[in-house]
Amino acid sequence: MSEESTTPPEKVDALYERLDREAEASGYHLNPDREFTRGLVEGLITNEQRYGYPACPCRLATGDKQKDLDIICPCDYRDADLVDWGACYCALYVSDEVLDGQREVQSIPERRPPGGERPQGSPAHAPQQPGGEPTLPVWRCRVCGYLCAREKPPGVCPICKAKRDRFERFW
Ligand code: SF4
Repeated sequence: MSEESTTPPEKVDALYERLDREAEASGYHLNPDREFTRGLVEGLITNEQRYGYPACPCRLATGDKQKDLDIICPCDYRDADLVDWGACYCALYVSDEVLDGQREVQSIPERRPPGGERPQGSPAHAPQQPGGEPTLPVWRCRVCGYLCAREKPPGVCPICKAKRDRFERFW
């Protein structure tokens, strides 16, 4: 991102608008600091051109897609960071609390294991053990029935937009 920009502003704006639409439709929010966010969006475009996939603009990608799967935006760590810190690692996405000014974005510790080695059972791997039992808690939205396997329930249901407190432990 520190390299001189060669991306046409219209291209950055087009991706920005698309990501914003998709985020809002799914219960997520882009960081309201438009210039800051445009810089990250430009980083995604640069990485797409460089690697062939939109690797996280705040992390060092290897160029091997299989090794970088967990940091293709939106990364595997976004939702957990939104719950714990109010923003993803890059602060491209922020929580309701941050958007409403009830919480400030602070420095977010890197959740990704060193080298990107993820333990079995993490969302980057199959959520079930060979015997069929989930290795992560499964959460159910009591409003629409949406199910997800992750350490904590999402802040907002991506289907019906119910808040986190409407989720119950399903498994
Ligand atoms: S930290 Fe944010 S910007 Fe980086 S990949 Fe994850 S969701 Fe995308």
